[in-house]
Amino acid sequence: MIDVEILHSIASIGTQILLSHSSGDLLVDAGDGALRDLVKKPYDFGRLRAVLVTHEHPDHIAGLYSIANFLRLLGRRKELVLVTPKPIERIPTLLSSSLLRDTPYRIRYVEMKDREEVALGEFHVKAFAVKHGEMNTLGYSIGESSGYRVVVSGDTEPCEAVRREAKNADLAILEATFEEKQTNYARRYGHMTEGEAQEIGRLAKTYRLIHAIPQDYFSRMKCDELHDT
Ligand SMILES: [Zn+2]
Repeated sequence: MIDVEILHSIASIGTQILLSHSSGDLLVDAGDGALRDLVKKPYDFGRLRAVLVTHEHPDHIAGLYSIANFLRLLGRRKELVLVTPKPIERIPTLLSSSLLRDTPYRIRYVEMKDREEVALGEFHVKAFAVKHGEMNTLGYSIGESSGYRVVVSGDTEPCEAVRREAKNADLAILEATFEEKQTNYARRYGHMTEGEAQEIGRLAKTYRLIHAIPQDYFSRMKCDELHDT
């Protein structure tokens, strides 16, 4: 069994999802506030085995720096695995601060391409490429030995890969950034509307929708900046 907690998910701010298993935890994406969300629980950081990054837009990676630093302060010695799309571009720069140069633990990057798989403790992780504009983006299908399987879409417009992976998943966590009246924006920026995500969600046994953009922010945003969410 995998317990899933959506710590936070708002487009342009932060997405962070915690997957817990008796053997340890995975964090999928680490946007703004990821450290705060974990500390608030409170959270045993020794359980954190890896962070799976769907893509390198700021609202999915901005929290990595503060988590990496907090693990340094906790004196972590166990390696931290960072699973990312291949090739990785922005994260090494984000974590290149001199503050993090002498961490007592090692960060091990695992760069993945479409349909590649990796075992992380008891978790079995399969990456799948999705369609998010020009950004190299992965969804993840995450299973464990009992057969329970969780799918996280990553940011994507509706595509065959997310339909294929959502099918028969125990839980599909799907981005649903825009309302139906904003379908034109969904296409322009590589996202799904709520209705599109629901349709895919029904292929799974259960689903949750994430990443909705608050309408009051949306009305004030410069639309060209949405390319980076
Ligand atoms: Zn994005």
